[in-house]
Amino acid sequence: MWDNLVMTDMNRDGMAAETVHLLQDLIRIDTSNPPGNESAAADYIASILHQNSIEPVVIEMAPHRGNVVGRIKGNGSEAPLLLYSHTDVVPVEREHWSVDPFGGMLRDGYVYGRGALDMKGIGAMQLAVFLAIRQQLNEQPGRTLQRDIILAATADEETDTDQGIGPLIVRHPDLLRAQYGLSEFGGYTMYASGKCFYPIQAAEKGTVWMHMSATGRPGHASVPHDDNAVVHLTRAVDKLSRARLPMHVSPIARAYMSGLADGLGGAQGAGIRALLSSTDEKGSPLMERVIRDPGLAGELRAITHNTVTPTGLYAGQKTNVIPSSASAVLDCRTVPGFGGAEMIHELKRALGSAGSMISFEIDSESPPIEFTTNTPLYRIISQTLKHHDPYGIPIPAMLTGATDAKHMAKLGTICYGFSPMKFKPGEHFSDMVHGHNERVSIESLAWGVQALYDVVSHFCGLA
Ligand SMILES: [Zn+2]
Repeated sequence: MWDNLVMTDMNRDGMAAETVHLLQDLIRIDTSNPPGNESAAADYIASILHQNSIEPVVIEMAPHRGNVVGRIKGNGSEAPLLLYSHTDVVPVEREHWSVDPFGGMLRDGYVYGRGALDMKGIGAMQLAVFLAIRQQLNEQPGRTLQRDIILAATADEETDTDQGIGPLIVRHPDLLRAQYGLSEFGGYTMYASGKCFYPIQAAEKGTVWMHMSATGRPGHASVPHDDNAVVHLTRAVDKLSRARLPMHVSPIARAYMSGLADGLGGAQGAGIRALLSSTDEKGSPLMERVIRDPGLAGELRAITHNTVTPTGLYAGQKTNVIPSSASAVLDCRTVPGFGGAEMIHELKRALGSAGSMISFEIDSESPPIEFTTNTPLYRIISQTLKHHDPYGIPIPAMLTGATDAKHMAKLGTICYGFSPMKFKPGEHFSDMVHGHNERVSIESLAWGVQALYDVVSHFCGLA
């Protein structure tokens, strides 16, 4: 099945070189968000699409916040595939960089710059694959794709101001409507206990931002009393920080943990299996006992529990006045199947009698998402990863943060985090992303763009 997918060495090298070149150019366009200024990146991508006889659509959701979309038409026998990336990047602390973060410099086999990993490197791979497929169709008249391939490079993923794909799918849904979408956070090497895994993201936790408030009796601070809102609140914060919320294992969390257990084997594998067979109330304290790697235990805890993190406190205006209320800001993350109401229910249960003085108010909420992996696309991704790294073990995965997949899910799109990259042992994607001296190896990009090309061309019937 693979023989007819393999490109000639010249094409392979050409696609890798093109990816590096595109990435260097994209890094040199400073799209630090805020303020973003993604129109410069959108215009750059649009001009490349135009040069390759693909007519782009550029839409600004606000001045300088450009989004660009291109499409290669198929014969329509299958529904479209979307390759999407965000063009904005997080800001840099220049004094901590050893190179210009917007220089796109090559050094020791790496491309350096803000966005090299998150996610201009992936955007460059997607663009290179898109152009390679266009070129292949041009060179072979009569060949057609079974489905449209849509390429979208959008603004404003890194902040909450929502000038990118969120309003784009509301105002121009037909531009992006697709059966499947591929984007960031997945498909790259993850090492654990000497084994090599490829997590493919098929779920994301939800976000619930809320205030927790306590009320009490106001008064003069020179006469202390027991009904102090500040004391009620801090007791509640302390109790929540030590609380064990129940364990909930969603289908993707279960598949991830089963895949890890199979791959790791030995005591670690047996430990993960013990966790999976435990009931929800027992599972939670079991976590630390059976998983000895604290990083892995923390990650497994996060994907199997709703979590609460206090991130702010507000109380009082004057030193000698006992305030009548005090509030804490809570960042809560929910596993698939749980929203704000269930989160509050769990927090109240954890507080017990201490919760009688406490009220909760949700400020904003974004639901979790979870997609089936029983799809032809997931199978092709998994087979392709195994083909390109016979020692690697592809497993479905859940992201504890959030990506633009949340928006695409509203259009019914099945989204996978698939941005293939091959890291060396000791290199961890999560350690390098958003960090100083962000970089990606040329070898990793070359490996990744080939894997992405193979998945897209096979899935769209070009192979
Ligand atoms: Zn990103």
